[in-house]
Amino acid sequence: MENNDKTPCNEHVKCMELLELILDGEAKDGEKDYYFAHIEQCMPCYRAHNLESAIRTVLRNNVDKKEVPADLVHCIKSKIRETV
Ligand SMILES: [Zn+2]
Repeated sequence: MENNDKTPCNEHVKCMELLELILDGEAKDGEKDYYFAHIEQCMPCYRAHNLESAIRTVLRNNVDKKEVPADLVHCIKSKIRETV
């Protein structure tokens, strides 16, 4: 069986929209159920979820300091592009 790390996700566009909604706390229950069931089986979406969550955490933690680490965000974003 092939390692599916690099397999593009058929639902990826939809997943990334849901990811935004979920991280913004705006997803409906049915959307959350779908999404979390999906990322358990879909490595690209799971990774994107973790990376995007990490970005949000970094941004949130740095609001107080009034300083966004642009380099770090850029670094994480480019990792998303590599893995997805
Ligand atoms: Zn997926």
